[in-house]
Amino acid sequence: MGAAYSPPMTDPAAEAVEQRPWDIAVVGGGIAGLAAAWMLSRRHRVTLFERQPALGFTAASVAAHGQRVDVPLRVFYPGYYPTLTRLYAALGVASEPVSYATTFSGADGEPYFRWRNLRWGGRSWPLVAPQDLFGARARRIAFGALALQRRLRAALAGGGLGEATIGEFVEAERIDRDCVEGLLWPALATIATCTTEDARAVPAATVAGYWGAGLARDSVRRAVNGADDVAARLVAPLARVVCDAGVERVQAGPDGVQVHRRGGVQERFDHVVLATHATQALQMWADAPADEAALLARFRTRSLRVLMHRDERLMPRRQRHWSPVHAHVDPAAERPESTIWLNAVQPSLREAPPLFQTVQPQREPRAGTLVAEARFERAIVSTESERALAALRTRWARPDPARRVWLAGSYAETGVPLLESAVRSALAVAVSLGVARPLSTA
Ligand SMILES: Cc1cc2nc3c(=O)[nH]c(=O)nc-3n(C[C@H](O)[C@H](O)[C@H](O)COP(=O)(O)OP(=O)(O)OC[C@H]3O[C@@H](n4cnc5c(N)ncnc54)[C@H](O)[C@@H]3O)c2cc1C
Repeated sequence: MGAAYSPPMTDPAAEAVEQRPWDIAVVGGGIAGLAAAWMLSRRHRVTLFERQPALGFTAASVAAHGQRVDVPLRVFYPGYYPTLTRLYAALGVASEPVSYATTFSGADGEPYFRWRNLRWGGRSWPLVAPQDLFGARARRIAFGALALQRRLRAALAGGGLGEATIGEFVEAERIDRDCVEGLLWPALATIATCTTEDARAVPAATVAGYWGAGLARDSVRRAVNGADDVAARLVAPLARVVCDAGVERVQAGPDGVQVHRRGGVQERFDHVVLATHATQALQMWADAPADEAALLARFRTRSLRVLMHRDERLMPRRQRHWSPVHAHVDPAAERPESTIWLNAVQPSLREAPPLFQTVQPQREPRAGTLVAEARFERAIVSTESERALAALRTRWARPDPARRVWLAGSYAETGVPLLESAVRSALAVAVSLGVARPLSTA
C-alpha cells in the first residue's frame, strides 16, 4: 500500500496535520478539472492533463476585433451558482451583469415573443413590454409562463415533484400549448443545449430548482475578463499543466494509480481525478468497480456545434426586434437555434461591427461570414441520470480507504449540468481528499 488514506468521513483538518502532500493527477481541463486542481493544490502536488492543445475551458476561444471572445460564452447567476460565485470570489475574478433578454422567432423569421430585462438597483427582472405582446399568441405565452411558475411553486410546496419529467408536468397541469412549445422547450433546450426531446425529459424538479433560485430577480453575469483570465488564475498554483495529453487508461494498484497517456507515456500518482464526462471517464478507468461502471454508463451527452460569425440573417429580420439573445424556433427542427449578439453582451465589443455566436445552428451563415466553429459535448439531465447520480452519491458517501480514482464533472452533481454543478463536484472531491476549506480566500 502507498500512503494511508483516511476516508472523507474523518476530520480533514486534523488529517491535514499528519498527511504528506499527495501527487494527484487531474484528467480534464474543463471547469471541473481546473477547479478541482486549484482546490487540491492547496494541499497536494497537482498535475493537470488535457487532451486538447489548450485547456478545454478556453480551447475554443477566439480573437475578434482585437478582443478575446469566449466560445461558448458562459453566464451564471448567483442564486443558482453559489459555489461558482464563491470560487470566483476566492480567485479575485470580477464579474459584471449582462442582459440575456431574448426575442423568439418562428420558422418564417417573424418574432412571436420577446422578453426584456429591467435592471434597477442591482436587481434584474424579466419584463414583457406592452408593445411586445405582438398578438394573442404572445399573450398566451406570457400568461402561460406565469401559470407554469405558479404551479411549479405550488407543487414544490405541496410535497415536491417526485420523478415527474417537465413534459409530464406541463401535460398534467394543462399549461398552455403556445407557452410550452414557444417558450418552455426553446428556453430549456437553450439553457441545457439539447434537443427539444431532451428538454421534455428533464425532471420537473430540476426546472423548478433552476427557475426558483432567483432567476427572475438576479441579473445573469459574465466574468469581466473572460474564461482566459479564470483559467489563468486556476492553473497558477499547479505543479504542472500538460496539454495535448490524451489519457488513455488509468489503473489503480497497491501503490498508487498508473496514468497511461497517448504515445506510451506512463506515470504514477497517489490519486487521480477524472474530470471529464461520465462516458469518457468510463473509457479510461480500466478497473472501475462493476457497480460504479454500470452507473456511469447511464449518463448521456449530446454533441453540438457553435459558430462565431457576422451574418445578420441569423437575427430577427428587423433590427428593432433584436435582443441580446435570439431563439429561432422551427417546430420541424429537432432543436432550437440560439444566436447571441455578442456586441450587446460583451461591453468591449459594443462599438465593433456586429458579431454573433450561434449555438446549435439550424441554418448556416452566409459564405465569408464565418469566424470560427467549435464542437462540444454537453451532459444531459434526465430522470435516468438523476437516479444514477443518487446511486453514485450513496456509493461515494461510503468510506472507502482504498479509493484512488475520483470523479468530477458537470454531470456529477444534481441540477442542470452547468458551471455550478461542475465546480460543486470539484469541491466534493477536494474535501474527500482532505483539503480543509477548499474555497476559503485565505
Ligand atoms: C454552447 C454551450 C453554452 C454553455 N453556456 C453555459 C452558460 O452560460 N453557463 C453555464 O453555467 N454553463 C454553460 N454551459 C455548460 C458548461 O460549459 C459545462 O457544463 C461545463 O463547462 C462542463 O465542464 P466540465 O469540466 O464538467 O466538462 P468539460 O468542459 O467537457 O471538460 C472536460 C475536459 O476533459 C478533457 N478530456 C476528455 N477526455 C480526456 C482524456 N482522455 N484525456 C485528457 N483530457 C480529456 C476534454 O477535452 C475537456 O477539456 C454551456 C455549454 C455549451 C456547450
